[in-house]
Amino acid sequence: MANTAMKKELYELGETPPLGHVPQKMYASLIRKERFGEPGDAFKVEVIEVPKPGPTQVLVWVMAAGVNYNNVWAGMGFPVDVIAARMRRGDKEDFHIGGSDASGVVWAVGEQVTSVRVGDEVVLSCGMYDEGAPDIKSGGDPVYSTSFKIWGYEENWGSFAQFTLVNRHQVFPKPKKLTWEAASAYMLVGATAYRQLLGWPPNVVNEGDPVLIWGGAGGLGSMAIQIVKARGGIPIAVVSEQDKYEFCYQLGAKGVINRKEFGHWGRLPDLDDAEAFGKWMQGARAFGQKFWEVLGERRNPKIVFEHPGEATIPTSVFMVDNGGMVVICAGTSGYNADVDLRYLWMRQKRLQGSHFASVEECAAFNDMVDRGEVDPALSRVFPFDGVGEAHQLMRENRHPPGNMAILVNATREGTRTLP
Ligand code: NAP
Repeated sequence: MANTAMKKELYELGETPPLGHVPQKMYASLIRKERFGEPGDAFKVEVIEVPKPGPTQVLVWVMAAGVNYNNVWAGMGFPVDVIAARMRRGDKEDFHIGGSDASGVVWAVGEQVTSVRVGDEVVLSCGMYDEGAPDIKSGGDPVYSTSFKIWGYEENWGSFAQFTLVNRHQVFPKPKKLTWEAASAYMLVGATAYRQLLGWPPNVVNEGDPVLIWGGAGGLGSMAIQIVKARGGIPIAVVSEQDKYEFCYQLGAKGVINRKEFGHWGRLPDLDDAEAFGKWMQGARAFGQKFWEVLGERRNPKIVFEHPGEATIPTSVFMVDNGGMVVICAGTSGYNADVDLRYLWMRQKRLQGSHFASVEECAAFNDMVDRGEVDPALSRVFPFDGVGEAHQLMRENRHPPGNMAILVNATREGTRTLP
């Protein structure tokens, strides 16, 4: 990669402008309304203007970008048309630049930014909010602010572009030993998993606690297994293919369950239909038995780490220990989930929603990665024109275990610093 001394209007991928020189234009992988549909066709590389940082913003030269499920949804225009939603709030851009994870180099900062400097090597979090929002200024937690948004999904200027624009509270130091692509792959899923497992006291993972983790080989699951292990808990992972077992064991799972061995998934049958309900209960009990078998003792999970939603919530609520917590951050299989309330109140269980993470949680999780307690679990790296392909694989649940990344200005794998 050449550090091109001459200032140009547009730099090819693999060229680097002089540090701090912001060109007028950049390459970006865009979603447009007319391309909404299968993610494989929704993204297209175009040349657009580079955005300018506001007073508290940071412009980052993107080296690599992480791939997350949210831009599967963005590409499909479902369940939310993210472009229309943003334009209703007054934005002018009729395109969406996805990408909610990145590693890169600070290239320009707004006049009020003192926390980072041009040239700093950083990773970015996707949790953005308006520091001046009334509910924050009055002392409220930014995570609950009405201004809290996910960068690269609800907000534009994500990381599938040569430059990305973020707020200063989204910027964290890049772990030095990681390559650009590995550094771009963990923050969204990792910090989300961190909050789910440690952000809801008293239901936090403690030494010896069994934890049931759905989608153990997925982005969230691969982080959750490692966080539980690092806390001394006992991660039990669920997957859908035998060939994902080894991956989960390598990350620290004590046991792995194949969900395809069971058939009671989805919504609860009508409680008045004794036969159907009995059959469902048989399935749930068999799954519970399997959990005890792979755990090696008859204890229920203290925490169930949820994100599939409709398909699994009835089982999660049934399974979780008395006084335990089912903590959920998504509904990948559907949003209309049933809870048998008898189990919830009689056994004093908690069903807790959780959404991304606070700045402090991002920093604490980033430290875990820096200390080597959590590996980014990077499985596949794509070139810049592979954004659509990576999301299509994810949509079809055919992506490899762990996390995927896109090379942006880093055009080859294995590099760690600016050339
Ligand atoms: P991922 O890498 O695709 O992993 C999800 C895993 O879920 C898959 O590997 C799959 O594993 C499992 N799964 C899929 N359908 C299932 C079903 N019907 N029943 C049980 N398990 C099922 O995705 P991810 O990055 O972990 O994200 C998962 C979800 O969380 C997405 O909807 C994403 O948008 C959301 N999310 C939300 C937040 C937030 O802050 N709110 C943050 C991150 C992610 P097996 O097929 O092997 O079981």
